[in-house]
Amino acid sequence: MKKDEMLVLGVSVKDTSRIEQFYQRFISYMETHHGLQIGQQVKAEKWLMPHIRPGCSVTYGQGRVLFAGEIAGFLNPMGEGISAGMESGYCVAQAIANHFDALDMIYTDYQRDTQQLKSYMEHQWNFVGRMADTFSDIII
Ligand SMILES: Cc1cc2nc3c(=O)[nH]c(=O)nc-3n(C[C@H](O)[C@H](O)[C@H](O)COP(=O)(O)OP(=O)(O)OC[C@H]3O[C@@H](n4cnc5c(N)ncnc54)[C@H](O)[C@@H]3O)c2cc1C
Repeated sequence: MKKDEMLVLGVSVKDTSRIEQFYQRFISYMETHHGLQIGQQVKAEKWLMPHIRPGCSVTYGQGRVLFAGEIAGFLNPMGEGISAGMESGYCVAQAIANHFDALDMIYTDYQRDTQQLKSYMEHQWNFVGRMADTFSDIII
């Protein structure tokens, strides 16, 4: 991908001990098949990627521990997940502020206020699932 006029290149691995091996293979492939030339490497980063599983289920919390963002399941398989994290975080904070000790009402408000966000996530999952056979098992 391209960000701020710079290329961001990377690989996704299950076995972290093989990062370097896969990364080198990917870079070689890009050099050979797409004429990649790296003048200067500005930064090296590692991220944890969420595991996308079928169903797009949302877990709003467990008891008095409320979940927001990707851990709750507001996970956009197209990326761009920051807004979903902020929106669900705002909704759960509002629900807590309005019903501090009434846990049932907190959950009710939180679920109601994130219904549209949940529908959007489900739409995105189905959209990605229909893109290629390799993603088809995430279709809801
Ligand atoms: C390479 C990459 C590029 C991306 N680009 C974009 C982009 O351009 N725009 C966009 O909108 N989204 C982008 N995303 C997605 C975006 O980063 C995520 O959707 C977003 O950060 C999710 O927010 P979150 O709060 O749910 O989770 P996170 O940001 O993952 O926050 C969870 C936090 O909990 C902490 N944590 C985990 N376990 C524990 C524990 N046991 N105890 C205490 N703390 C813990 C973690 O360290 C982390 O700080 C990108 C993601 C990646 C990987």
